Amino acid sequence: MMWKALRFWFYRLFIVDCVGCGSLVVHARGLCLSCEYHILGHYLSSQVETTTVPESGLRFRFLFHWIPGESSLLSGYVYLLKSPLAEPLWHELSRYFVPPEHLKNNVIFIPIPSRKKRKHSLYLAQGLVEQFGGEIIEALETSALDSLEQKQKSKTERRKISFTLNEEFTERLRLAPTIVLVDDVITTGASYEAAYNVLKNHQVCPENIELWAAFHREAIRVNFE
Ligand SMILES: [Zn+2]
Repeated sequence: MMWKALRFWFYRLFIVDCVGCGSLVVHARGLCLSCEYHILGHYLSSQVETTTVPESGLRFRFLFHWIPGESSLLSGYVYLLKSPLAEPLWHELSRYFVPPEHLKNNVIFIPIPSRKKRKHSLYLAQGLVEQFGGEIIEALETSALDSLEQKQKSKTERRKISFTLNEEFTERLRLAPTIVLVDDVITTGASYEAAYNVLKNHQVCPENIELWAAFHREAIRVNFE
């Protein structure tokens, strides 16, 4: 508890004002109250129903609809969260999740690693465990071949990411009734599908599996063609 408070003050030493309006009265999620109410009022998802990734049909939940270009406040907030000091903000952000009852017990949270080695999904998972219990298992790693092969790949292939499963955890994961993969942002669902596939290839097929993300990055709802 003490460390959490200290971490927030450490953050406040470097980032002092609200990214939305410049107000100096900022709370633990990094915004002033009026900017936070604005994004809660306009972009918070219901979380009651899961959303599905097209084709694979994998289910996910998310907190905020993020449509780049639509709200400079929300985009500013996303970039703030991606800054290196934002760890305590991710912990606080997790408090907005309202999962159904059956997903509140004995959940294993697996953060999806980022290619750039950023730890936002881990921070979010830490907040979730603090709130709902369960445990975090960092079972996935980005595949080493992935970065070596980058240069020969086409642009679309380069966007793909692949993971390896740390086999030390395979047995425990096989016994888990509920696995929640955690990511900071879900865009197309490609990382989610890659993570799901590597679990499935190791016969990790829990009864309940879904992904929780802080933001669902959606395309601008205008057709330019
Ligand atoms: Zn503000």
